[in-house]
Amino acid sequence: MRNVLLVKYGEIAMRGKNRYLVENRLIRTIIERLEPYEGYRVYKEQGRLLVVNEAFEFDYDLVIPIVTVLPGVTAVCPCVETEDQSIENLRNIALAHCKEHFGTEPVTFKAETKRSNKRYPMTSREVSADIGGYILHNMDNVSVNVHEPDFVVMIELRNNAYIYTKLIPGCGGLPMGTSGKATLLMSGGIDSPVAGYLTARRGVEIEAVYFDSPPYTSERAKQKVIDLAKRLSVYTGGIKLHIVPFTETQLKIYESVPPEKMTIFLKRAMLKAADQIALKNGSQALVTGDSIGQVASQTLHAINAIDSAAENFVVLRPLCTMDKQEIIDVARKIETYEISIRPYEDCCTVFVAKHPETKPKKSIIESMQHKIEGLDELILTALENTEVLEL
Ligand code: ATP
Ligand code: MG
Repeated sequence: MRNVLLVKYGEIAMRGKNRYLVENRLIRTIIERLEPYEGYRVYKEQGRLLVVNEAFEFDYDLVIPIVTVLPGVTAVCPCVETEDQSIENLRNIALAHCKEHFGTEPVTFKAETKRSNKRYPMTSREVSADIGGYILHNMDNVSVNVHEPDFVVMIELRNNAYIYTKLIPGCGGLPMGTSGKATLLMSGGIDSPVAGYLTARRGVEIEAVYFDSPPYTSERAKQKVIDLAKRLSVYTGGIKLHIVPFTETQLKIYESVPPEKMTIFLKRAMLKAADQIALKNGSQALVTGDSIGQVASQTLHAINAIDSAAENFVVLRPLCTMDKQEIIDVARKIETYEISIRPYEDCCTVFVAKHPETKPKKSIIESMQHKIEGLDELILTALENTEVLEL
């Protein structure tokens, strides 16, 4: 008998090889996260994962926060595992577990059994009734309520038996790697890390791209993006960050277009470069942190005038309908907010016009773009000099 953690993850239409790959990926991520702590192992257990500690007592306060944040984890249950499935043993374990978790105030409960071990000599109903009755007779502060109990005492009969009363909700969504890959344009602001998190939550693997414009943007600004990517990697289990030197490209645009059009052309150049990175790294989409109307370059007109710069991939904007406050709430929850609000110079604000155009015309923008001599070559050079960090 020992304390373990049962991990439930998204029940998705996964079959054969795909299921196996996704489960293994989730196992690998949990193992990586628990590597610094001695004794932890992860096993598959019939559509669930099982985290155990083979050397020491299980530390739930340590492990639960690490596992619940992973995309695809729908819930975790701290539980007692036992090899001895005799009804006498199950009764005793269930009673001890309830005494530990129910407290001393009056509570209602019901017992529920899942029996995937079909050779077990009693039916699920019989096991539930037996154990429920035993708890009822041996505790003073409990009564049964089958419709809305305070606690459900779960008894799962698998290769071993598992008994638990607590189900802690996880991140939800789909496990990483079930939904392909996307390239995230990530600045040091509040929005793009949230966009990356929400996309990753749908099981999409993320690579991030940051456009760096030294000396107009500082080393601190770059460090901030690195820290944000590291924080995202807590959820995604490792992230690649491409740092693209964009000063020359940005200066070229500055020289070549009227100030009110600067941002549109800069965003187009970023999308064009990110699109090439996405092509090389096997992505199926680009992701930005745009939210409709937040700033001039995020009006629907501007979005239309910008998007055609991505030649190969669709541009996802997971925040497009969210209010700033809603975005901030998520940023706080995922703990990117504190990093994002550190002061820094954004490459978009360095050259920003006082009155940027809010209704640019796509056709005009596109025809102007063709006339900027040498811009494509500068973007190519920037891509060649990109630094890639594995975080
Ligand atoms: P954020 O909070 O993500 O910085 P924002 O509200 O500041 O967004 P903009 O600066 O207009 O808005 O940027 C819109 C989006 O363009 C960002 O969410 C990001 O996806 C992308 N972007 C902007 N600047 C950069 C950059 N230097 N590197 C990579 N992506 C960028
Ligand atoms: Mg920004």
